[in-house]
Amino acid sequence: MTLLELAGLEVAYGGIKAVKGIDLAVEKGELVCLIGANGAGKTTTLKAICGMVPTHGGAVRYQDRDITGTPSYRLVERGLAMVPEGRGIFRQLTVAENLAMGAFVRNDREAVRHDLEVIFELFPRLAERRSQPGGTLSGGEQQMLAIGRAMMSRPKLLLLDEPSMGLAPLLVQKIFETVRKISAEGVTILLIEQNARLALEIANRAYVMETGTITLSGPAAELLADPKVREAYLGEMA
Ligand code: ATP
Repeated sequence: MTLLELAGLEVAYGGIKAVKGIDLAVEKGELVCLIGANGAGKTTTLKAICGMVPTHGGAVRYQDRDITGTPSYRLVERGLAMVPEGRGIFRQLTVAENLAMGAFVRNDREAVRHDLEVIFELFPRLAERRSQPGGTLSGGEQQMLAIGRAMMSRPKLLLLDEPSMGLAPLLVQKIFETVRKISAEGVTILLIEQNARLALEIANRAYVMETGTITLSGPAAELLADPKVREAYLGEMA
């Protein structure tokens, strides 16, 4: 079953097209990654899915319904959660309050409490710092908080925009392990990453984006072995 489908999606800023009619699909249960150089249009694609930028052509379908232009808070109610680049946590609120904000669409309080404990098990660092303001966390901890907060909405589809950005190598590993765990629990994931190698290692399928178009797609293992991908995105000589 296809959970998310982009058909001929176009986005422009001013007169300049950042996304030039792309097709992309994410099946239920998959972990799909979208890789590409800086400025390729990856973030813009995610923003268009979440109704954060207007589209100029094509359509976004989620659970077989056209959601083009639907605002993000409406999408959260329908199980589509996004973790933005730069994290976007509430700096004045405590870790626990940030996580509670993620559950704003839910009214099953017992289950929310249970999920909070699950997040604290997944990220023990957050458990230790549950009463500390989000703004005082390190970059890696803020990233964990942003992912934890999105998980609190019990998403069916999780969109992750460069979760490893700006993190030290050990933390990058940790974040990727967590993404894999979340995927193994049955959450469908669309992951944007600069770290193409790690992304391809954990993904089922992948798309490569270059200047607003999809230039390659296929099983992640095949892209990992593709000489063009290895040369352009994995820093290897062909
Ligand atoms: P990065 O990995 O650097 O975040 P990206 O693949 O996510 O890159 P986008 O952020 O989607 O790329 O940007 C795609 C293009 O759109 C770039 O040329 C960028 O300069 C342009 N762009 C992005 N946001 C805006 C904006 N708000 N106004 C004008 N141009 C923009």
